[in-house]
Formats: sequence, structure tokens, C-alpha cells
Amino acid sequence: MVGNVAIDGPAGAGKSTVSKLLADELGYLYVDTGAMYRALTWKVMNQNIAMDDEVEIARAAEFTDIELKYDAQRVLRVFCDGQEVTSEIRQQVVSKNVSKVARIAAVRHHMVRLQRRMADKQPVVMDGRDIGSYVIPHAQHKFFLTASIEERARRRCQQLDEQNIPFIGEEVKKEIEVRDEMDRSREIAPLIKAPDAILLDTSCQTVEEVVDEVLKVIRGE
Ligand code: C5P
Repeated sequence: MVGNVAIDGPAGAGKSTVSKLLADELGYLYVDTGAMYRALTWKVMNQNIAMDDEVEIARAAEFTDIELKYDAQRVLRVFCDGQEVTSEIRQQVVSKNVSKVARIAAVRHHMVRLQRRMADKQPVVMDGRDIGSYVIPHAQHKFFLTASIEERARRRCQQLDEQNIPFIGEEVKKEIEVRDEMDRSREIAPLIKAPDAILLDTSCQTVEEVVDEVLKVIRGE
């Protein structure tokens, strides 16, 4: 038993791929907190709530049920009020708006409560922006993954391509930069490296190399 693992970092740093593989290796639950904010954003957009209507968005958050479930192939599926939204939440239009929803205090309050409940129930590998600094500051292991903006944009384009989601390369890079800036500069629980998190620059590493390195640290090898 190695205890909860927190993985933070900017968009496209490889957090979700690494976290999923780590969780598989450790037999833990993988909690993709970005997917939770994305699911709420998808609902807000679907209900035609204006992105600057903080009161309505906060109300929507309170009455939104978000579930992360593994299917038989251990693929993580995302449900919003019982409806599967696994691929919908990856659309560029959701990526563009998610940081506006995620900066609202009431939204964060609601999500963090759900995330802490999950981490209390079973050991987790949880990835996001504020996991080591705010959601589970007492996690046994904390990592902050980063990579150059070029590499992060390249990876995000590759992911979108694999999921058959249309995109324009330059726009993906711009969207990542704008989103990181919003996530870093928000007042509540911004994107930040916890002082005790281990910084890993993955620009020149494969996913397998990063997972190996993280596992070595966790296992004290
Ligand atoms: O991880 P992903 O890129 O899917 O996250 C989408 C967005 O959700 C982030 O850009 C950020 O605005 C928000 N987020 C957050 N806190 C987290 C995880 C994600 O604010 N713990």
C-alpha cells in the first residue's frame, strides 16, 4: 500500500495517460478531475447557460451528478446526470470554455468535495491542477508534470487525432496557452506546484519512461 498519488501540471503534459497507467499498475482508482470540470462545462453549454452567469453555473453544479466509471476493458467512462459524455467532453469547444467554469468558487467547492470523498473511500491516483496543493494535500506522493508548449500541443493534437475529433494545430496550441494562463491566474486553487511535489519535465520522455520514473520514486527504489 503506497497511499494516494497526486499528479498535477498544465494541459497536455501527459498527466492523464501517465496517471491511468500508474493506477492500473498499483490497482488504484484513477480519478480524472479535469473530466469532472469538463462534464459540468458540457452541461452548462448544453443548457445554453451563459459562460459569465456564475449564479446559474453554480446552481447547475449543485444539481449535477458526475460519475467516473471503468468499463469491462478498464476504459474510464464519464457520465453527467446518467448520460455518457466521454467523447463529448473532449471537443475543442469544451476545452475553450472549461477554465471559465472551473474558476467559479461554488463549482470548485462542489467538485473538491466529491474528489475528497473518492480519495477517502479508496486509494487513488488523482490528476488535475490543484490536487497536491489543495484537494489532497496529505497525499503520500505528489508529482508535477510539465513539458514544453510545443510538445504539449503536439501531444494534444495526437490525442484529438486518435479520437477522430477535428482540430487546427495552431488553435490547439493557442487554446492550451490561454487555458494554462487562466488556470494559473485564478484566485481559488490555481494551477501550482505544491512545494513538496516532485517536478518532472517529460518533454523528451516517453510515457513508459515517465511511468517507470514515478513508480521508482513511489516504491523507493
Ligand atoms: O485535465 P484537463 O485538461 O482535462 O482539465 C480541463 C480543465 O479543467 C483545466 O484546464 C482546468 O480549467 C480545469 N481543472 C481544474 N482543476 C482540476 C482539474 C481540471 O481547474 N483539478
